[in-house]
Amino acid sequence: MDYVGRIFRPPSEAQSFLLQVTIGCSHNRCVYCDMYRDKQFRPKPLDTILADIDEAAQLGPRFERVFLCDGDALILSTKKLLPILEAIGEKLPWVKRVGTYGDTRSIGRKSADELAALSEAGLGIVYHGMESGDPEVLERIDKGGTREESVTSAAKLREAGIAHSVMVLLGVGGDDLSVQHAAGTARTLSEMDPPFVGALTTTVVPGTPLAAMQASGAFRLPSKFRMLEELREIVAGVELSNCRFSANHASNYLPVRCTLPRDKAAVLDALDAVIADRDERRLKPESLRAL
Ligand code: SF4
Repeated sequence: MDYVGRIFRPPSEAQSFLLQVTIGCSHNRCVYCDMYRDKQFRPKPLDTILADIDEAAQLGPRFERVFLCDGDALILSTKKLLPILEAIGEKLPWVKRVGTYGDTRSIGRKSADELAALSEAGLGIVYHGMESGDPEVLERIDKGGTREESVTSAAKLREAGIAHSVMVLLGVGGDDLSVQHAAGTARTLSEMDPPFVGALTTTVVPGTPLAAMQASGAFRLPSKFRMLEELREIVAGVELSNCRFSANHASNYLPVRCTLPRDKAAVLDALDAVIADRDERRLKPESLRAL
């Protein structure tokens, strides 16, 4: 396979065939992110991608899902994405779902008809790192999209029949914006009503703009328990019709996996007990956390 640089994928795509269709991230400016800072964004040549699909076909049905890498493969034009999806359908007929990262920019620039065509061709899920639903936090972290655009994106994906998995980042508003980060995120998620939400926990990565902001005093990471309180405030505040909600990423201090609204009371009870205890032994040790 032709892989350029480090390859990332969502935890739920661990068993998927990872097909790199772009190199890097076309935005590459979120202050906390170092995933693609060493890569100049560019689409990969179609011939290279088709050769990887042929190679995967020779492996046989060892995977049921394909994940399109890198950072925001959905930024590719529909004209470029459709032949890739069609080749997957033709050469890997056992594949049940194709997924990709996407955001307000890549979803926003596609029409309803284009998203419907991508859905028809096999695109089944878009993982969207919204990170926060609060406008001030989104600006501070240079996310490149607004909360209103997130709400519109959710509606467009729903209409196209593409599942939407939204990631939010505990602690990313810093100490000073922590309360509004949690409240704004709960409010925006409620308006989006996605079928999947994943809450991750901010880690300040050396060399990122966020690390420089931390060094200058412009950003202070909330305490571990304050970040758990953010999680509690988000779970308490969201109104979702049927959502698989998880906070079990390697970065999280306390794993949570539930269906909302069904499990809301039980999750709040569990979080309240840990928050009231303030006992770090109940949290994942730093040495076991990862990005
Ligand atoms: S978080 Fe996502 S959109 Fe932001 S720079 Fe990293 S890969 Fe790009």
